[in-house]
Amino acid sequence: MRLSRYFLPVLKETPSEAQIVSHRYMLRAGMIKQASAGIYSWLPLGLKVLKKIENIVHEEQERAGHIPVLMPTIQSADLWRESGRYDDYGDEMLRIKDRHGRDMLYGPTNEEQITDIFRSHISSYKDLPLTLYQVQWKFRDEVRPRFGVMRGREFFMKDGYNFDLTKEDALHAYNRHLVSYLRTYERMGLQAIPMRADSGPIGGEDTHEFLVLADTGESEVFYDSAVTDLTFGDREIDYDDVAQCQGVMEEFTTKYARTDETHDEAVFAEVPEERRRTARGIEVGQIFYFGTKYSEAMGATVQDSDGNKVPVHMGSHGIGVSRLLGAIIEASHDDKGIIWPEGVTPFHCGIVNLKSGDDAADAACDEIYNALTALGLEPLLDDTKERAGGKFASMDLIGLPWRITVGPRGLKNGVVELTSRRTGESEELAPDAAIARIA
Ligand code: ATP
Ligand code: MG
Ligand code: MG
Ligand code: MG
Repeated sequence: MRLSRYFLPVLKETPSEAQIVSHRYMLRAGMIKQASAGIYSWLPLGLKVLKKIENIVHEEQERAGHIPVLMPTIQSADLWRESGRYDDYGDEMLRIKDRHGRDMLYGPTNEEQITDIFRSHISSYKDLPLTLYQVQWKFRDEVRPRFGVMRGREFFMKDGYNFDLTKEDALHAYNRHLVSYLRTYERMGLQAIPMRADSGPIGGEDTHEFLVLADTGESEVFYDSAVTDLTFGDREIDYDDVAQCQGVMEEFTTKYARTDETHDEAVFAEVPEERRRTARGIEVGQIFYFGTKYSEAMGATVQDSDGNKVPVHMGSHGIGVSRLLGAIIEASHDDKGIIWPEGVTPFHCGIVNLKSGDDAADAACDEIYNALTALGLEPLLDDTKERAGGKFASMDLIGLPWRITVGPRGLKNGVVELTSRRTGESEELAPDAAIARIA
């Protein structure tokens, strides 16, 4: 992309309404624009990152054997009356009437809708196990929408639902989700720690939240510092291997790590004192096993091998896709701007032309641009007439991992400058060598 033809409305001033760094940088970098409280338009740069995150989520869900679907955002109230949640859900649910006076709602989550799909099409245990998921917009009329995309009213969420014959099978699905989430967050350059949590209005017995440690997090968390040493890495997982998935689940959930809702001082006291930590965290996902709560209420049954009709065991599993942008920025920035992890960066490399209009500089920029593109990378070329200082400030703000600076003076010596956004280190290299370093 050439900046002269792009739409990147960078702000020089710090917007006064933004209280936390991720919100400030997302506004300043022209990623989002507030439409009304907790509701945002996604501008090109923001949309690019949102799509990268969504893609990683899809890839890891499909790797785990889960199947994508897409359900509507607007749901009928009748389904929610069947489960009993229409009245229970309260003011967070945006209730709508259509022209015929029928009660509709903008879905805050989709347990009822997916259970309805399931019961309409599946009646035999032979069709199990089944996990369906979607990445779709949700609406919750939050009391206090704030911190930009972190607590929006409209937000993008991955929600997955497993259907299993037995509790044992459903717990395997739970573990599969836990493993796939660990991989998902690590690919985004994030450490998200599974912590024992409370099930809230979804209901159920087993649940973990995934938390990114950050001072601006809204949850209070308590943990054994040894959990922060665990990394998933590039281990090979066979998602059908029950023992392997359970092993990973135990490895990542046995050490003390809980949100304030389930925190237990007596158990925490057993952690060696020098490893006890209290901190703030951002909830970027949650997994639940809730058994037959919805299947019984809504008649989602299958015939088992003896011909008996039994309600299926279910769970639901969410990732806060749009919230993740905020969480990633909270975890990865400096006083100049965002520092995107490679896995989610909107462009791989910025190219700064110090003298647009100079034949040699323009030609060298084009060559580098084409070479990077041919390698399957996406460069952002600043070919505008702005002064160098402004160009550098914008590149630092939008946080691309690499910057190649091209100017007539360097080109006379056959070099360009390669700068790492994370370390700030610069090096003069021949253009080919700079390209090779990025690839
Ligand atoms: P919170 O405790 O932050 O209100 P939640 O527990 O109500 O979140 P879940 O029902 O578990 O949310 O939804 C799954 C994921 O969706 C959450 O882990 C979170 O990452 C994301 N999420 C929930 N509410 C919002 C919101 N208002 N804005 C952005 N993301 C959200
Ligand atoms: Mg909530
Ligand atoms: Mg929560
Ligand atoms: Mg939650």
